[in-house]
Amino acid sequence: SSWWHSVEPAPKDPILGVTEAFLADPSPDKVNVGVGAYRDDNGKPVVLECVREAERRIAGSMNMEYLPMGGSVKMVEETLKLAYGDNSEFIKDKRVAAVQALSGTGACRLFAEFQKRFRPESQIYIPVPTWSNHHNIWRDAQVPQRTYHYYHAESRGLDFASLMDDVKNAPSGSFFLLHACAHNPTGVDPSEEQWREISQQFKAKGHFALFDMAYQGFASGDPERDAKSIRIFLEDGHSIGIAQSYAKNMGLYGQRVGCLSVLCEDEKQAVAVKSQLQMIARPMYSNPPVHGALIVSTILGDPELKQLWLKEVKGMADRIIGMRTALRENLENLGSSLSWKHITEQIGMFCYSGMTPEQVDRLTKEFHIYMTRNGRISMAGVTTGNVRYLANAIHVVTE
Ligand code: PLP
Repeated sequence: SSWWHSVEPAPKDPILGVTEAFLADPSPDKVNVGVGAYRDDNGKPVVLECVREAERRIAGSMNMEYLPMGGSVKMVEETLKLAYGDNSEFIKDKRVAAVQALSGTGACRLFAEFQKRFRPESQIYIPVPTWSNHHNIWRDAQVPQRTYHYYHAESRGLDFASLMDDVKNAPSGSFFLLHACAHNPTGVDPSEEQWREISQQFKAKGHFALFDMAYQGFASGDPERDAKSIRIFLEDGHSIGIAQSYAKNMGLYGQRVGCLSVLCEDEKQAVAVKSQLQMIARPMYSNPPVHGALIVSTILGDPELKQLWLKEVKGMADRIIGMRTALRENLENLGSSLSWKHITEQIGMFCYSGMTPEQVDRLTKEFHIYMTRNGRISMAGVTTGNVRYLANAIHVVTE
């Protein structure tokens, strides 16, 4: 008998499985609007010019020594400024405990482990729907999950009333996962006014907010504007946590560079929290990778490169916004009897189309269009070359 006779194949990941199927399809017409990675108008992966320039500056000059357990101090410093603000008093007062993390996933996972270790009785409230990996992350950290209402299927917008009810009805002092901007998969964010109300309700209930900010810059094209939800919570005096990622907004997907931060009561607490976060990282991966962190700190530490980055983030966001308009117009021009205004109302990388799993299956089988079965279209995969084809296929399966 074998050691592993009881091992069954794991279920396919609902997002990564889509790319596998796409790659295996020989059709020349095939379209991948599954995975959330930015593509240019030719459907090609993009390396930002600011990243190329940073690489040129770094080339040949770095050694390959380990980073400290908490990662690159310079990268973390610049990353905190993006989330908390350039002149944040919390940063000045050294109240933020922060470590480099293995991109946004790693940041969430570190937080989940930290939560389990120091608030062992706690649960995590996760929106419905959410990025499917959130469920895996808190499951593996053995933190029980609860859900809160978020999406309103009929309006394809926010179910604000139910969200507020859930926040109100959760036991005081609950942990909530919030998408800071460009909610995945729905592309639906609360308005500024709604964020203020959410923050007030969190205050009244003494809840803890962990912001997952995987798309800073992708919602509005401006990272500063996209941090608004976080800034509102900071103004209101919350002690929050933030998971940040450079996968999307710097196109550093495979470099795995991100940051987890926890805003503490004072410097002493921040020192303790940071040391515990490092202690969690140590037996998992010891210390984070150096190259991506150096790219980030090179870009953000140089005013000129930072300007270039901001311009390029806006360029990516604008191309996506343009494709939203084009997809909606194409569907309307085909005479669709359905409303497609949510395509342009939703923001960020995704359009939560409202298509059923069966309709998505038809798109794949009949048109070689690949996307997750929840109807999520990655707008980053839409181009001037495929938008008509995509619109026509959607029209056929939804009429
Ligand atoms: N959080 C959300 C909501 C995401 O959509 C993603 C990526 O798709 C991530 C976190 C983490 O991505 P990464 O680990 O590549 O930074």
